[in-house]
Amino acid sequence: MTVTAEPAGFTQTAHLSPVLKQATPVVVDHARGSWIHGTDGRDYLDFTTGIGVTSTGHCHPRVVAAAQAQCAKIIHAQYTTVMHEPLLELTAKLGPLLPAGLDSVFYANSGSEAVEAAIRLARMATGRPNIVVFQGGFHGRTVAAASLTSAGTRFSAGFSPLMPGVHMAPFPYAYRYGWDTDTAIDFALDELDYLFATRVAPDDAAAFLIEPVLGDGGYLPTPPRFLQGLRERADTHGIVLIVDEVQAGFGRTGKFWGHQHAPGLTPDILVTAKGLASGFPISAIAAPTALMAKAWPGSQGGTYGGNAVAAAAAIATIDVIADENLVENARVRGEQLLAGLRALAGRFPAIGDVRGLGLMAGIEFVIAGSGGRPQPDATAAAAVQRATTGRDLLTLTCGPAGNVVRLIPALIVSEDEIALGLDRFERACAEVFGDGDTLG
Ligand code: PMP
Repeated sequence: MTVTAEPAGFTQTAHLSPVLKQATPVVVDHARGSWIHGTDGRDYLDFTTGIGVTSTGHCHPRVVAAAQAQCAKIIHAQYTTVMHEPLLELTAKLGPLLPAGLDSVFYANSGSEAVEAAIRLARMATGRPNIVVFQGGFHGRTVAAASLTSAGTRFSAGFSPLMPGVHMAPFPYAYRYGWDTDTAIDFALDELDYLFATRVAPDDAAAFLIEPVLGDGGYLPTPPRFLQGLRERADTHGIVLIVDEVQAGFGRTGKFWGHQHAPGLTPDILVTAKGLASGFPISAIAAPTALMAKAWPGSQGGTYGGNAVAAAAAIATIDVIADENLVENARVRGEQLLAGLRALAGRFPAIGDVRGLGLMAGIEFVIAGSGGRPQPDATAAAAVQRATTGRDLLTLTCGPAGNVVRLIPALIVSEDEIALGLDRFERACAEVFGDGDTLG
C-alpha cells in the first residue's frame, strides 16, 4: 500500500500523540488580527488562519466581547432539550445570507459532521443510496466524510472498508491535464455522463457533493460552467446538489458563498463551518424546509451542536463581516495577492501555476522543464513552506501530491500585510531556488 505521508509533527512532549501532524514548529503565545505571537518571541504573519477559521482575524475585539458576555449568561444548553437565544438570533441573521429557498438551518460542531448530516439528509430525502463526489475533494476525517474524500490517500488508507455508495468522477483540473479550462470542463462532464451510463444510474443517485474551490485538494476553483452542468443534471434526475462551503464560504473567495461565482446557481444543501464563528467550533447545514422535513425529527444533531458561546461568536462574526465590508476586502486583497504571486511566478520556473479566488491562493510547484504534463514537485513546495516559516510567514501545503503551497490570510488583512507576505514569500522562493542575490 502506497500512502503519501505527511511530515511528522514538530512539538514533542509527553503524551501528545504522533498521529497529529503539525506543519510548523510554532507554539502560540497569543494572536491578534493577522499575527501570531509565538512563545519563541517571534511575530508570525499568519497566512494560514486555521485554514480560514479565524475569518475576522485572531481575537477580533467584538468576537471576544460577544463570547465573554455569553459565557457569563449561559455556556451550554443542549438544543435538543432547551433552546437558547444566541442560536435563534444566529439563525435569524444567517437566513438572509443563505441562497434563495434554503430557508431551514440546523447546527453541528465541525465540517465533517455537517457533511455527514447533509449526506444523511440527501439519502433520506431521495430514498437513494449513491453519492457522487469529485477527484481531489476534501470533506473531512470522520469515517463517512473520509469516504467522500479524495484529496490524498493518507485521508482514507488503512481503515477500510469505507462507507459504501460513494462514486468518484473527474474534476476539471485543467492545469494537471495540460488543457484549457473549457476542454477540462467538457471532459469532466462527459465522464460524469459516462459514470451514469456505466455504473450509477442517475435515478439511483442521491447527491452530488462538491466544493466551490477544492481546498485540501489543491486550491482549485471549480469552474462555474462545471457547477452549472451539475445543476442541470441534478434537475433532470432529481439529484440533490450539496455544496461544501466549509473552506470557501463566509466571504473567503470575495463573494459571501463560493458557489456564487457561478451566476444563478442555487444548491439544494449548503454546509458551512470554519469562518462562521472566527474560531469557535460550530457548523451549519441549510436546505429548503421541504427537504429537511423528509428527515426524521431527532435523527440529526448532537450534544454540543449549536453551542451558545460559539453561536454568540458567529453572530459577532456576521456583524463584523458586514460592518467592516470584509467580503469586498477579501476580493480586493485577493486580487492584490494573486497579482503579486503571478508577477513573481515568472522568476521561478518551479512555479507551474498560480490560481485562486479571493483570499484562497494556491501556488503549484512542478518539476521545471519537464514539458507536457507537469510533474508535481512536493519537495519544492515543502521547502518553500519551511522557508516561509523561517521568514516569519506561516503558510501550508495541500494537494493530493502535496505540491501546492496555499495562502489563506484573514479577511481583515491589510494592503501592507499582503505586500509584506508577498515579499517574504518571494524571498523564501529565492532562498529555495537560489536567486537570493537580486533581492539582497
Ligand atoms: N469540508 C471542507 C471543504 C474542508 O476544508 C474541511 C476541513 N478542512 C472539512 C470539510 C472538514 O471540516 P472539520 O475539520 O471541521 O471536520
